[in-house]
Amino acid sequence: MSTAAHQRWQQLDGAVDDAPDVLVHTHPALCCGWGDCHRWAPDVYPLDEHGHIGVHRMHVPPEHAEDAYWAARACPEHTITVIGPPEEFWMALRARRSAERLETHLAARAQDASTG
Ligand code: SF4
Repeated sequence: MSTAAHQRWQQLDGAVDDAPDVLVHTHPALCCGWGDCHRWAPDVYPLDEHGHIGVHRMHVPPEHAEDAYWAARACPEHTITVIGPPEEFWMALRARRSAERLETHLAARAQDASTG
């Protein structure tokens, strides 16, 4: 996480909202068929029969927006543009999810310790 994103995350104190829906615009002429977008978000980014990205524009609902963003970031050719919140939002949301997973893990360990 960048310093700015980390500072913003601390300011938010975990209070970042859930992801909104986003718009995606791709630039197929730039696509070299690495397939990273599809590996990160198979439900969002289909590939065509040549392994290149198979969509130009689309609306992505909130439940897939986070995957759409990180898969776009994974594209080595910068083929995918996600129109939505800035990077800072996605970094804060990822940090919140990590904190939630840690909290769940620690609660499960505490439960095991008290019963075992
Ligand atoms: S990751 Fe980028 S270059 Fe690779 S298939 Fe997807 S859009 Fe194309």
